[in-house]
Amino acid sequence: MTARVLVLGAGFGGLEVAARLSERFGTDIEVTLIDAAEHFVFGFAKLDVMFGKRTAASVSHPYRRIDKPGVRFVQTMIRSIDAAERRTVTDAGSFDADYLVIALGADLDPGATPGLVEDGHEYYTNAGAFAARDALAGFAGGRIVIGVTRALFKCPPAPSETALLTHEYLSARGLRAASEIALVMPMPAPVPPVPEASTALLEAFAERDIAWHPKRSITALDASAHEVVFADGSTMPYDLFLGVPRHVVPAVVAESGLAPDGWVPVDPLTLQTGHPDVFAIGDVAQVGTPKAGAFAEGQAVVVAEAIAARIQSRESSARYDGSGVCYVEFGGGRAGRVDVRFLAGGGASGSFVRATGALADDKDDYRASRVRRWITDG
Ligand SMILES: Cc1cc2nc3c(=O)[nH]c(=O)nc-3n(C[C@H](O)[C@H](O)[C@H](O)COP(=O)(O)OP(=O)(O)OC[C@H]3O[C@@H](n4cnc5c(N)ncnc54)[C@H](O)[C@@H]3O)c2cc1C
Repeated sequence: MTARVLVLGAGFGGLEVAARLSERFGTDIEVTLIDAAEHFVFGFAKLDVMFGKRTAASVSHPYRRIDKPGVRFVQTMIRSIDAAERRTVTDAGSFDADYLVIALGADLDPGATPGLVEDGHEYYTNAGAFAARDALAGFAGGRIVIGVTRALFKCPPAPSETALLTHEYLSARGLRAASEIALVMPMPAPVPPVPEASTALLEAFAERDIAWHPKRSITALDASAHEVVFADGSTMPYDLFLGVPRHVVPAVVAESGLAPDGWVPVDPLTLQTGHPDVFAIGDVAQVGTPKAGAFAEGQAVVVAEAIAARIQSRESSARYDGSGVCYVEFGGGRAGRVDVRFLAGGGASGSFVRATGALADDKDDYRASRVRRWITDG
């Protein structure tokens, strides 16, 4: 009988699992890939739209173009997940499977920071980033604060990139001299596991007069005073606040009881949940790696191999090694590159390659290659 694989969520992780299984089995497998969204948008493309480098349409890759043997995409909202039965209920009906992969990412909870919805701009959702673009376009000078409200968030270098791109954007508009840029984070360094990357970013902040505020805990925005309020009671005024909100599992995951401690627990080497033939990967899972697409993709490779091995009645030797690559935008058409590996027993080791135009081209190739692999083969 043809194996049925249900992949919940068509982001970095879900798309990679589907592409790998299609490559391996062609039409000899039934992969049902479900997502509520109409398009895939790379996380980093949000910054491109926000800073006017690309249009929303040009960074939106329609799922209807997915053309992979053995893969069927269904656009619908997932309402419940029964991991023990490997079943999901959606607005398009219920689906059963032999193998279930939960790749539903992280949702955002801007309401967790009082004042953020009323007076700030979260820019981590598509809608938020597109709205922040308009807020930036209307900005006429003053102080922009980029603030991370919790230590656990997607793509740790992204707020630093945001600060550098804000500098580039204001400079191009002739507003830099009339503006201040402040970056506020709860961590002690911009990219804690890779000190060379942190050093390069801190140098870049200093060169551009970007104020760096580490180890600060934001509790609220005072919407009437336009001030950030910190845990120690101190405040910081802003004219425009660009915020990274609290991250949470999607409601359907929480309601299905799969994330008792906030994220879906898995074996960090095999990505298996406590239920047989049920896996969780990417931002939704508790793996011990940062929440970033590069890690979701690496985890997907291990899960696709594990499912292939089960179908072929053999043992899978694939184990997740915790490594990932991330490009860091420095502005001026240059990107740096972080290579990092998170070790099973805790700790990490990594390296950084300083920003160049060639690395920005590599990032573009990375993006284009994923679009080809995941959506269209052309
Ligand atoms: C500004 C920014 C910059 C970033 N830059 C980078 C970068 O340079 N490199 C990098 O590696 N990562 C980057 N990231 C992080 C990256 O985008 C995420 O970590 C990555 O997308 C996680 O992949 P995933 O497969 O776990 O989840 P996602 O890609 O988030 O996919 C989850 C999918 O599940 C769907 N879904 C959720 N709930 C439901 C439901 N109930 N029903 C149906 N569908 C549902 C969603 O629509 C979504 O498509 C960045 C993120 C941001 C915000």
